[in-house]
Amino acid sequence: MNIALIAHDKKKDDMMRFATAYKGSLSSHNLFATGTTGQRIMDETGLQVHRFQSGPLGGDQEIGAMIANNKMDMVLFFRDPLTAQPHEPDVTALLRLCDVYAVPLATNMGTAEMLIKGLDRGDLAWRSVANGDKGE
Ligand code: PGA
Repeated sequence: MNIALIAHDKKKDDMMRFATAYKGSLSSHNLFATGTTGQRIMDETGLQVHRFQSGPLGGDQEIGAMIANNKMDMVLFFRDPLTAQPHEPDVTALLRLCDVYAVPLATNMGTAEMLIKGLDRGDLAWRSVANGDKGE
């Protein structure tokens, strides 16, 4: 699976704790990240990450483009809800595209843990209903 990791500055330490704790799970997927987040994850965990531009310089939009092209399976975006972001329009656009394409999106560590635990259980058919499966 292709997984995007993004953390605003005040959430980067949380993202490092998360990436360290779930390194084993994350290592079996293709990881993408905004510039600074990706660099820190690589430096601090040894995980391999494809880095885009830094968020304020277009990284969120690059991840959005992958979503629009059906190439991103999950977004883990540790937002800072207490600090104004210069690229707030890009943040909003990224969240919107996740909803447009029914891409699983965590905006905080609690949800991110649930999503990763789902992956660990092998719940990989997460968009089956979104893709037309009617179930039993
Ligand atoms: P960064 O971007 O990982 O390059 O800091 C994240 C953001 O602020 O959107």
